[in-house]
Amino acid sequence: ALYEAKQLGRNRTARARASTGTLARDLAAALADPDGGGLRVVLQPLVELPSGRVRGLEALVRWNHPERGELSPALFVPVAEQTGQIIALGALVRRAAFRDVAALASRMDDTRIVSVNASGHELVEPDYADAVLEGLADAGLDATSLVLEVTESVVEGSTARALDTLTRLRAQGVTVAVDDFGIGYSTFSRLDALPADYLKLDRAFLDGAVDSPRRRALLETALGVGRALDLPVVTEGVETAEQAQLVVSLGCRFAQGYFFSCPLPAERVLEELPHDDDG
Ligand code: C2E
Ligand code: CA
Ligand code: CA
Ligand code: CA
Repeated sequence: ALYEAKQLGRNRTARARASTGTLARDLAAALADPDGGGLRVVLQPLVELPSGRVRGLEALVRWNHPERGELSPALFVPVAEQTGQIIALGALVRRAAFRDVAALASRMDDTRIVSVNASGHELVEPDYADAVLEGLADAGLDATSLVLEVTESVVEGSTARALDTLTRLRAQGVTVAVDDFGIGYSTFSRLDALPADYLKLDRAFLDGAVDSPRRRALLETALGVGRALDLPVVTEGVETAEQAQLVVSLGCRFAQGYFFSCPLPAERVLEELPHDDDG
């Protein structure tokens, strides 16, 4: 039985490797396609509470694979990180996001802020900071328009070079947010030293928080860490009015989630959201 289990494991690993290889090949083709090969960016509003006023847009990559249809970034971003394709993918996302937000900003003041997710693999690239600043300038955006979302794991485990990159970009006016805060790498004592401007609380903290006092206490504690560090906190994954009410009652001033808006293609952002023209 042990032998069989081992064989099964081996087959599974081999299969996973093969599908990673195929995915990497398909991703290379998409990245080489001048039309994006099915890769595109959607934007999700970040809102201020309790007003619900839009304070920024997070760019999230999407891939409509030619044979497999829509694939989750949770599937292909890790592949891109393994292969180094994350550099080209990140550049594609920034180009699309900066272009979209520059176009939207001329019609909607509140959306001048754009967040992009930066992988640790990108932050250690020597010319990453230059590429980011150049991209902003090309799109006619200020450095103050950009938020880089980096995970705790990146910031905690990072090399001097990644920290240098963040410090340099911050000095130019870029905002740094710690993404997926509270899961995995929470060494609270070290957060103090992070080159970060705000925290994004993983949506796991909302699970059960409306009904379970214990879950609510955890959410409260995480929000308390933000307060202790004097860093604003964005609660992610707010899906219901009850959850929105709860986070407001716990003193959280910013949120994101399906309750406010799903990630949208740029052309739908203006339609779906209240904006200046509404009076
Ligand atoms: P993330 O940065 O934590 O992004 C939040 C995820 O939660 C997104 O999933 C978003 O669509 C989803 N979400 C937003 N509101 C809700 C809600 O109310 N309920 C639920 N259940 N989910 C919600 P998505 O777009 O599938 O992205 C997954 C992860 O993939 C992201 O997590 C991020 O780590 C990564 N990712 C996405 N785009 C990029 C990118 O351009 N570059 C890099 N490096 N990573 C990316
Ligand atoms: Ca994010
Ligand atoms: Ca997150
Ligand atoms: Ca996440």
